[in-house]
This record gives sequence, C-alpha cells and structure tokens, in this order.
Amino acid sequence: MNKCLYCGKKIEKNITYCSDECKTEYEKSVRRDEGKARLFAVGIAAGVFLILAGVFVAWTPLIGAAIGLMGLTVIGLPLATPETIGWLGYRPARRLARALGVLLVLVGIWICL
Ligand SMILES: [Zn+2]
Repeated sequence: MNKCLYCGKKIEKNITYCSDECKTEYEKSVRRDEGKARLFAVGIAAGVFLILAGVFVAWTPLIGAAIGLMGLTVIGLPLATPETIGWLGYRPARRLARALGVLLVLVGIWICL
C-alpha cells in the first residue's frame, strides 16, 4: 500500500500524491524547508556543543538547557528526514518531529530539576 507523500493518506500503488493540492503543498513545503535547514543545523549544533560544555564543566542545568534548546529547535523547525517522510508522509512526519521536540524539552526540564 502506498501513501500520499504529503498527508500520508493511503493511495493506489502508482501515484505519489492523493490530490493535486497535496502535490502543490508538498513542493511548496520542501522549498520552504530548504531555507530552514541551515538554521535547524545551527540550533542542533549549538545544543550539542552546550551539552558537551555542560558535561565538561559538570553543570547539569546547562545540559538540561541545551537539550531544551534542541527540543525548541525541532518544534520550531520540524524537519523530518526524507526516509521518515517517505515512510509516513510529509505532514505526519512533521507531527512526529514536533512530538519528539516536546519530549526533548520535557527531558531538558526534568534534567534541570
Ligand atoms: Zn494527500
């Protein structure tokens, strides 16, 4: 069973999108995401750097804040991998990315407590 690349709805085997709207939306979204990818990479890189810094100085709140920052980056810019989009569809993959971002923020807060 194939899925619409944008909304994730089940569709016939030989087509990629369930409707023309989904095709248009998908192409628009991909173009929009290309511009955001750099910002996303910066946010994640900053988070990783701060986690390492937090480990280095052995200051747990910094690690928590860094994980929270990564979570907020994912919530603000939910860029899923092409694999996830191919598997779930674009919109469901974004929802999943956002859910993981929320989880990261919660972990960050939990670490700070
Ligand atoms: Zn669709």
